[in-house]
Amino acid sequence: MDFQALLDGINADLRPQLGKEGRVACYIPALARVPISKFGMALRTCDGVEAACGDSAAPFSIQSVSKLFTLTLGMRLLGDALWERIHREPSGNPFNSLLQLESEQGVPRNPFINAGAIAVADRLVSTLGANAKPGLLEMLSSLAGEAIFFDDEVAASEAETGFRNLALANLMKSFGKIDNPVATVVDFYFHQCALRMSCRQLACAAGYLCRDGAHPQEGGNEVVSERQARRLNALMLTCGTYDAAGEFAYRIGLPCKSGVGGGIVAVVPDTLTLCVWSPAVDASGNSVLGTRALELFASRSGLSIF
Ligand code: GLN
Repeated sequence: MDFQALLDGINADLRPQLGKEGRVACYIPALARVPISKFGMALRTCDGVEAACGDSAAPFSIQSVSKLFTLTLGMRLLGDALWERIHREPSGNPFNSLLQLESEQGVPRNPFINAGAIAVADRLVSTLGANAKPGLLEMLSSLAGEAIFFDDEVAASEAETGFRNLALANLMKSFGKIDNPVATVVDFYFHQCALRMSCRQLACAAGYLCRDGAHPQEGGNEVVSERQARRLNALMLTCGTYDAAGEFAYRIGLPCKSGVGGGIVAVVPDTLTLCVWSPAVDASGNSVLGTRALELFASRSGLSIF
């Protein structure tokens, strides 16, 4: 398949719609400044073939896409013990909702909503201590094949306005489900959300998800086991796009993980990983044009898990 022609076609068809729908997430002030008129897409196949279009090399705030990588790190370090305090069901609620957390005694529905990612962050801080942030950067830099950094301005901006995340962490702490000081855990969480990566780097870094867990750069090495890679993909499909996961499965049919920065990572198992970025998001927090681009990609390529 000519992937470059496929991406060029999607880019040409969607560019005229840039900025017409959705809004840049503005509840994090540093994100509100991102220009709305950006669109990029990149993919990398299991054989290392790459294709990209538009703003595919521009770094952006990966936000909740980071939940995929912290979950990966947590599964690597803790195996099944990670699931003692996190469920694996879609929430059907907004990503920052407090409702279920109260009625379900501080155990988040899944690792891809904010509460679940904060619970994973707590386990990472317990396991890695002061090395948690450098350890995450090290894993991502190795996966992307390039140095990856936090955007400290975005992290500080989130810390200033992250009242709901603090509420989620405090509520879990009140149920005895968070071991470390809340301030330490949310500091890690705000930094993971503030990771800066481009579509190209994300398409490359997520490569273990289409390779049964094998490292995208160092073929012989395992990032996660084949069984864990399968489970990560299952969680992305059922929970990776918040309360729109059903609609994503219906329209696109690929495991996806989105973030309010406008990035979405998608996996075609055994074939390729793909990342699209466009900052205007819909009410669920998923990129409007990113979603449309993935829909076009799936229908034009015929690649879907169904
Ligand atoms: N940093 C954002 C938050 O915590 C991440 C949410 C998202 O990308 N959906 O609210």
